[in-house]
Amino acid sequence: MNKEDIPIFNLSKTELIPEDKEVVRAEANRAIENETEEMKRVLREISIPMNERVSMVADELHAFQTERCKSYGRNPPDKPEVFGVPIEYRARLSKSDSIGGFTNSIDNTVVVFTYPNELDMWIAKKIAHELEHAYAYHQNRADVNFEASEDDPQVIVGCYRRGGVTLSPKGEYGYFLEEGAAELGAIEYFTEHISKLFPDDYESYLKERSKFMEEQGLREATKDYLGPSYNRETQTVQMGATIYAYPVGVVKSLIDELPEGRELINQAHIRGNYVPLAREFEKLLGKGTFRVFMSLPIKEESIRGLGELFSAMNERERKTIMEKLLHSRPYDKETLRRRGVL
Ligand SMILES: [Zn+2]
Repeated sequence: MNKEDIPIFNLSKTELIPEDKEVVRAEANRAIENETEEMKRVLREISIPMNERVSMVADELHAFQTERCKSYGRNPPDKPEVFGVPIEYRARLSKSDSIGGFTNSIDNTVVVFTYPNELDMWIAKKIAHELEHAYAYHQNRADVNFEASEDDPQVIVGCYRRGGVTLSPKGEYGYFLEEGAAELGAIEYFTEHISKLFPDDYESYLKERSKFMEEQGLREATKDYLGPSYNRETQTVQMGATIYAYPVGVVKSLIDELPEGRELINQAHIRGNYVPLAREFEKLLGKGTFRVFMSLPIKEESIRGLGELFSAMNERERKTIMEKLLHSRPYDKETLRRRGVL
């Protein structure tokens, strides 16, 4: 990681002089090193060794993502260290009780949680998803606060931007975009590459999927969203759609509806430049709609609201839907009011 790259956000009223910046930057880098060391020590202790073919997929993905970064004019990150961690350790590493893995841009690690007897093919697909995040545009930041303590400023290092996601004190933005782009990338990589490395498992999956779709009366278009999900009650893995089906569906429709849609999504996800995407999005759906889209959490009610927004008949209707979707986002509502959108 380039040590000069960390931007400093001064959260105190005291102004930062150049010497302060040096101190903060050194402190931030030390915090990163400490966290990296501690985190890797824990991960080495609880992770399980990867199957050879899974490691091979991770290596191939590294080469693939590195090339893609370069083709979008970005310096690729160092190869992240990938850890498979048994599901029982999830609570120790994450506050969420539903995630399949995570990417940590501070220590450049990727963790995928594994279930007992989980097929290597599915572990490889989870790695593909997490590596989409790991190679997406990243920006860490150092928050400094002098008010916390007079002579020993408090420095907190965190992730600020990750692909389409921005984590700011005003709120978190871009989950639909980033998760949709990452999962769509993982599905495509899975279908084109991973499936060929595990032909027998892939074939049984296709059979199981067709049977499931027939039983449930599902449309052909839903097939890519189906994979094994873990049922916590029965502690078994079974066919189903995951929560990612929503963001993937939205990103897919943006790719179809917007001119050069895929390119716009890639620019936002890989380069962190979502201005061109915002422009086309608002041309299609109206002023202020991109901010609303970026503010939504990945939930069923968001997808329903987005559907309504996409099919709004007039300006008035659109405003009402936007107000409703921003009900728990006063800052964003206010911003749109100031701009005369709401
Ligand atoms: Zn993800």
